[in-house]
Amino acid sequence: MHEMSLAEGILQIIEEQVSATDKVTSVTLSIGELAGVEIESLTFCFDVVTRDSVADKAELIIERVPGSAFCYDCLAQVPHHDRSNACERCNGHKLTVVEGDQMKVKYLEIA
Ligand SMILES: [Zn+2]
Repeated sequence: MHEMSLAEGILQIIEEQVSATDKVTSVTLSIGELAGVEIESLTFCFDVVTRDSVADKAELIIERVPGSAFCYDCLAQVPHHDRSNACERCNGHKLTVVEGDQMKVKYLEIA
């Protein structure tokens, strides 16, 4: 499962940022609409992966970043909510994603 390796990657980032004696109470992630991440599945995997770690029982807070793309047909930046969608303005398909395809760890809250 793709979300399981993402969750492991998140834990790795957390462990690099905090010391082993810290207790992480919440983790804020920013996940783009076009990042291809299944939120429910990620939340589940995160709980499994962080068990008995510094982030055990940490709350996972997820901020969604809206997707947006540049359209080479109408030469405009348009909202883009799904990679299989056509351009909202001209129905064209020459789109390049400019925003919303990333996932990052934004904040860590430590007790
Ligand atoms: Zn267009």
